[in-house]
Amino acid sequence: MDTLYSTKSEIVKRYNPIDPKAHKGTQGHALIVAGSYGKMGAAALSSKACLKSGCGLVTAFVPKCGYEILQISNPEVMTITDEQEKFISNITFDIKPQAIAIGPGLGQEMITQNALHQFLKNNTVPLILDADALNILSSKKEWLSLLQSKTILTPHPKELERLIGKWNSDEEKFDKTIAFSKQHDVIIVMKGAPTFIIDGAVIYENSTGNSALATAGSGDVLTGIITSLVAQAYQPINASILGVYLHGLTADVALPETGHHAFIASDIINYLGKAFLTLE
Ligand code: AMP
Ligand code: MG
Repeated sequence: MDTLYSTKSEIVKRYNPIDPKAHKGTQGHALIVAGSYGKMGAAALSSKACLKSGCGLVTAFVPKCGYEILQISNPEVMTITDEQEKFISNITFDIKPQAIAIGPGLGQEMITQNALHQFLKNNTVPLILDADALNILSSKKEWLSLLQSKTILTPHPKELERLIGKWNSDEEKFDKTIAFSKQHDVIIVMKGAPTFIIDGAVIYENSTGNSALATAGSGDVLTGIITSLVAQAYQPINASILGVYLHGLTADVALPETGHHAFIASDIINYLGKAFLTLE
């Protein structure tokens, strides 16, 4: 098992500075499908992180009850709503995003499960799946065959266990994750301390981050960062490696200023600028 370590020099090679002639139309349009009643913060955090990672345009797709929450919390994010009040029931839209994330705060209502199924049958846009989108797929494994090549999955340990089954050792966890990645031709961002990015037999170990990241909404922010990079035309593997690196780096940079205890997911977003600056 060969593991590549995401040192700064490895990361800088994968980083594309923003073109001085860029305008919002050339910086990518991302769609974040997220949120349900009581979990709209996940959609707000994820879409804000997406915008704060360089994407030109971000649209949030949320249930009706999320409309004002998103518009007020994120004035720079456009919002479209599902016809249902509390849950997403039909993932259709008339925009042309370059990357789509589905999952943060989504819930697993039957109506949402069906919406995900219909969407996957028709989708051709690069996709990032997180949280409840992964939980839904864990209970409907036959839908995994609908995923396009190099779809990015970002499970935390429990979500990974639901996807691949229990493991008895680290070695078995890696073996099963690699087999899953190969079988479905997907990239797995195996979140933890540290996070590993697995693309078939190739494994990347992330070098940044600390326990300040163990806080509500942390993973939702990561989804937004990776989605932003895919929308900006990064290859899915590079978006995953770079996104995980930057997410971790925010906590490393923030630590002397915020300490561990007071660092929350919004701070990951606040420190994204400083994290990106280390790559310039
Ligand atoms: P989630 O559980 O989906 O909110 O994701 C949590 C995020 O925080 C993942 O990116 C984890 O890798 C990261 N994280 C959580 N705890 C730690 C830790 N102790 N050290 C480094 N990263 C962590
Ligand atoms: Mg999560």
